[in-house]
Amino acid sequence: MKLFMATLSTETNTFSPMPTGLSGFKEYYLRHGTATQEPPNLMTEALHVWRARAEQFGWEVVESLAAIAEPAGPTTSDCYRSLRDEILADLRKAGDIDVVLLQLHGAMVAEGCDDCEGDILERVRSICPDAVIGTALDQHCHLTERMLANCDLIVCFKEYPHDDASARAEELFELARRTRSGDIRPVMRAFDCRMINLYLTKTGKMRDFVQHMRDLENRAGILSVSLAHGFPWADVEDVGTRTLVVADNNPLLAQKTAETLGRTFFDLRYEVTSTFSALEDALCEAAAATSGPVVLADMGDNSGGGAPGDSTFVLHALMKRNLSNVASGIYWDPVAVRICRDAGIGASIKLRLGGKTGTDSGQPIDLSGQVMNIQSDLGQHLGLGLEPLGTVVWLRTGDEVDILINNLRTQVYHPEAFEQLGIDLADKSIVVVKSLFHFYAPFEKIASRIIQMATAGGTSPEFRNLPLTKRQDAYWPRVDNPFEERVRTSA
Ligand SMILES: [Zn+2]
Repeated sequence: MKLFMATLSTETNTFSPMPTGLSGFKEYYLRHGTATQEPPNLMTEALHVWRARAEQFGWEVVESLAAIAEPAGPTTSDCYRSLRDEILADLRKAGDIDVVLLQLHGAMVAEGCDDCEGDILERVRSICPDAVIGTALDQHCHLTERMLANCDLIVCFKEYPHDDASARAEELFELARRTRSGDIRPVMRAFDCRMINLYLTKTGKMRDFVQHMRDLENRAGILSVSLAHGFPWADVEDVGTRTLVVADNNPLLAQKTAETLGRTFFDLRYEVTSTFSALEDALCEAAAATSGPVVLADMGDNSGGGAPGDSTFVLHALMKRNLSNVASGIYWDPVAVRICRDAGIGASIKLRLGGKTGTDSGQPIDLSGQVMNIQSDLGQHLGLGLEPLGTVVWLRTGDEVDILINNLRTQVYHPEAFEQLGIDLADKSIVVVKSLFHFYAPFEKIASRIIQMATAGGTSPEFRNLPLTKRQDAYWPRVDNPFEERVRTSA
């Protein structure tokens, strides 16, 4: 038996003015067949799992590309084709392959191609029509008919924050192995829930829904159940939440289960989503808190969803209120990092920070402060994986605001992003993190309270008015019941 595996992952915010080019992959993660020789990150965990399991069974493993870029705007056509074609060339070179396993994102858009994953799978299928093709996806994906038609198995992460990449990779491997041996014959069906939103799976009704999916997987004939949450900030035809059911040789069971599950989820729409605080309300509450630190999430500037990572709306508001004993980060500003490096640790400097990438960044902010520390090649944990941080600077302003600046776009996942530099978050009154949800569990351990703020920016969680032009059907929350409305959702 011979296994071919690869990963290609970026999540495209089609509204971002920043193209995703080869430099975006090079600076975040780009390996040509060697990813399993080093510790895993979120999107290479699957490769580690698949290699270990395949070797247990005595299979030969062909490892191809592992390419990951921090989300931004559409991938340039040249970049997309060079990465895709490297995988396809490796596949042709590998000869007869029994099983192909790919870790893809599911929301990658390139110039001229709204469905990169569907395009890749179609080409993989044409190269090896008889192989079992399995795909692991981040659940923030656009699940398209082209993807479903061109592979045998799709399994999405179930957890957001994502801490189950390895578990889903195990599940996919086992299903692919059983398919290859003739034990099962998977068929997949999806159902469009007509919803666009974010769903945090760790608490409340979402926790129950994840458990419900697990229970369904124990029913006779059902092999796998996924909820593709969807990725809201993308103007593509298939944007939105979908259920996916893989059944054993029973398309009707797959279709009926997907639809029932999808309608159940739609009925829970108000219970599985959260409302978030306005910036000024959150700052009022944080300023009045008697114990710290209050952790404030700058949701609108989550680079993990394609926002620039250099917006200054929150920092301007903090300074206007003269709030002190604050830590805030991570600001993506390579020019500011360069200036701080040249000045050196201990130097007192004037610095113009952020507000550079576009209108989602706001206005730059002029600061005076001291460079407290500079560190390179640090990482921060996201689940089991260690994600890169680049070069990180700690700047302390005269108003006792500790600002974290780096030269590699990334959201805040873990308090260690600050603490490795020497910033003691437990002593702070307020900690501001640029992130949507992934920060939540690690920061819950140190926070007196967490407030998620619906701030302006490239990932503002205001889904009613997304400027979508390609989705055909209405969606909630733009309309209350899109199953009854026939209006197009075009803005
Ligand atoms: Zn995701």
